[in-house]
Amino acid sequence: KAGLKKTRRNMSDSLHRMLHSFTRIDEDLFEELEELLVMGDVGVSTAEHICDILRGKVKERGIKDPNAIFDLLRETVAEMLQGGEELHISTKPSVILVIGVNGVGKTTTIGKMAALLQKQGKKVILAAADTFRAAAIEQLQVWADRAGCDMVSQSEGSDPAAVVFDTISAAKSRGNDVIICDTAGRLHTKKNLMDELAKINRVIDRELPDADKEVLLVLDATTGQNGVNQAREFKNAAGITGIVLTKLDGTAKGGVVLAIKDVLDIPVKFVGVGEQLDDLQPFDADDFARALFE
Ligand code: GDP
Repeated sequence: KAGLKKTRRNMSDSLHRMLHSFTRIDEDLFEELEELLVMGDVGVSTAEHICDILRGKVKERGIKDPNAIFDLLRETVAEMLQGGEELHISTKPSVILVIGVNGVGKTTTIGKMAALLQKQGKKVILAAADTFRAAAIEQLQVWADRAGCDMVSQSEGSDPAAVVFDTISAAKSRGNDVIICDTAGRLHTKKNLMDELAKINRVIDRELPDADKEVLLVLDATTGQNGVNQAREFKNAAGITGIVLTKLDGTAKGGVVLAIKDVLDIPVKFVGVGEQLDDLQPFDADDFARALFE
């Protein structure tokens, strides 16, 4: 996978070199391995967790060759990342609420996701519920045009929950399959932002009580462990069902995916690997582990 070239170059190459320098599997090896994982932005507690699992597997299977650690690591990481990757959007309509701080790639991701779903034959409609900035509404319209889907908006400063309400009504009458809601990435205070998201959530739950709903948090992979902190902040307030990790093409920090799954138990559903319409990939744990440790 092209998107992971940098992470792979960093982690895999040094890992191979490191493993070659050992003649047996001992605590020094695990210590160096932990350090390498932390440098790949896996995070300290997750790196420790991975090493613990590896120690157990080495003992259980009677493994002696240090180079065997590489395959073991890939297997362990794949197991760790598995579960919850698929998007649940079977009802008509379904809702995907997209949240995240400004600059992480939220608008771009919504455009790419809309294009992907439209390609799968689903009729998508966007709700321009980031009413805090006029530019956000304009940018989303550009992506709606690119993806070839509808969009509902009001003027800057209007009530985001009202935009979502309008979009749901439009979706019901036009027969849309999926509603994707943009949201503000920053308001005057964090409390305002969380209150706004809660209000939008209430409107969705009231108007579409039986609909499938995904709440996707968009995180910028280049910010590394900072992404884990953002996920932690949003997790309780917004009931996140999945992560979209963007800009994996531009970073050596792909390991952050592991930290998010391990520490916060939130599945990654998509990864962004570029700025174009088709640069969004559904997340696949096996592929990702293979790409990370090749
Ligand atoms: P928003 O403020 O969260 O809505 O962020 P935008 O969608 O406007 O994106 C911010 C910048 O990140 C833009 O320049 C995008 O082209 C860029 N971007 C978004 N996703 C990706 C990605 O997966 N890879 C790369 N390289 N750039 C991305």
